Amino acid sequence: MQLKKSRELYEEAIKLMPGGVSSPVRAFKPHPFYVYEAKGSKLIDVDGNEFIDYCLAYGALILGHANAEVKEALKEQLDKGWLYGTPIELEVSYAKLIKKFYPSIEMLRFVNTGSEATMSALRLARGFTGKEKIVKIEGSFHGSHEAVLVKAGSGATTFGVPNSAGVPKDFVKNTLQVPFNDAEKLSEVLEKNKDVACVIMEPVMGNSALIIPEGDYLKEVRKITKENDVLLIFDEIITGFRLAMGGAQECYGIKPDLTTLGKIAGGGFPIGIYGGRREIMERVAPSGNVYQAGTFSGNPMSLLAGYTTIRVLERDRVVEKVSEKAKKLCSGIRDLLSDKSANVEIAQIASMFCIYFGKTPRDYIEALKLDKEAYMKFFWKLLENGVFLPPSQFETCFMSLAHSDEDIQRTIEAIGEAL
Ligand SMILES: *Cc1c(COP(=O)(O)O)cnc(C)c1O
Repeated sequence: MQLKKSRELYEEAIKLMPGGVSSPVRAFKPHPFYVYEAKGSKLIDVDGNEFIDYCLAYGALILGHANAEVKEALKEQLDKGWLYGTPIELEVSYAKLIKKFYPSIEMLRFVNTGSEATMSALRLARGFTGKEKIVKIEGSFHGSHEAVLVKAGSGATTFGVPNSAGVPKDFVKNTLQVPFNDAEKLSEVLEKNKDVACVIMEPVMGNSALIIPEGDYLKEVRKITKENDVLLIFDEIITGFRLAMGGAQECYGIKPDLTTLGKIAGGGFPIGIYGGRREIMERVAPSGNVYQAGTFSGNPMSLLAGYTTIRVLERDRVVEKVSEKAKKLCSGIRDLLSDKSANVEIAQIASMFCIYFGKTPRDYIEALKLDKEAYMKFFWKLLENGVFLPPSQFETCFMSLAHSDEDIQRTIEAIGEAL
C-alpha cells in the first residue's frame, strides 16, 4: 500500500487545521488516507488504493456510496436550484413518510445535523417540562454541544479526553449520568432528583463500541421515566432506518416522547430531525415559545437525498437485506475467531457490528477495558489488505446494500490474516 500523496496532503493539512482534520476521529496515526472518490462499497484514495468501506461515513450511507437513484434525483434538483429559504412541497411529503414509520413522531422539525437535533430536543424537553436537569447514559454520544459533552463516547474516549475544555461547569451541572443496562440505577437517580426534564439515550449504543440492550432494559427505562413524569428521548441518529425502518423503537416496541434522527435520513447529505408527541412539538417556535431556527434547515438537497433513500429502503426491503449481509460476514468472522483463540469477540445487530479486542461490553466502563492499541494494529493490517473499518475501537462497523458476496469473502480472508 502506497500512501505518498496522502502523507503529503496530511503534512500540509496539519498546519492548516487542528489535527489536520475536520472531525477528530478521522485523525488516526500516523496519518489518514485522503479519498479521491467513492463508488458502491469502495473508497478510492488519492494514491489509487481501493478499500472496502465498513465505516460508511459513520453509518450515514446504508445504500453505499454514490447510489444511482439518489444521484439522479439530486441532478434534477440542481437544475431547479438548491436553496430557497422558503417552505417546499418535499417537507410535507418527507414528514409524512417519516411519520408512517415512526408513529411516536406526530410532528417534527428538520434541522441540519444530528448535534442540532439533540440540542434542540433537549431545549424543548426543558421548555416543555419547566425542569432543568437531564439524564444521559455514560458513553453515549449525542453530538458535540455543551450539555452532552460528558463521557461522550468515541472521539473523546479515543483521545482520553472524557470532558472538553471550554465547557463551563455551570453548563453541565444539570447533566446527570447513569450506566447503560442498569434500570435500577436510573430509577434511583430519578427518585432522588425531582427536577429532571428528560432521559436521552441511544437505544443501542453505537459510539462506545457497540453495546446492545439486555432483556427488558429499554422497557424498564420507559416504565421508570413514565412513573417519574420524565420525558424519554431516543437518539436514533444511527439506529433509525437501520435496525428497522422504524428504528430501535420498532424493534423493541417502545414509544419514546421525542426522537432524533439523522445520518441515513439525509441520504449522505447533512440532516437532523427531531420530533415526537404533538403537545410537546407544538411548543417549538413559531407555534410555541421554545426557540430554534436555521438557514439551511429543510434544504432541498438534504431532504431529497434523504427522501429518495428512504423510498428505496422501503421499496427494496433494504434493511432486511443489509442485515442478512452483516449476518453472513459476522458468521464468517465468528468461525475465524473459534480457530484463532485470540482474545477477540464480535457482536452484530441488524447491519451494525463490532469486533472487540476484549470482552463484549455491556456498558461504558466495560467498553473502556477494550484494547484500543491491539484494535489499531488490526485496523492497519486490514487497511493494507484493502478493508477500511472505523479507525477506533469505540466506533461501530456498518454494512451497506452495495457490499457484494465477493466483498464479504475478501473481508473474511483479510480479517483471518490480520488476526
Ligand atoms: C452521529 C451522531 C450524532 C451527531 O450527529 P451529527 O450529524 O454528526 O451532528 C448524534 N447522536 C448519535 C447517536 C450519533 O451517532
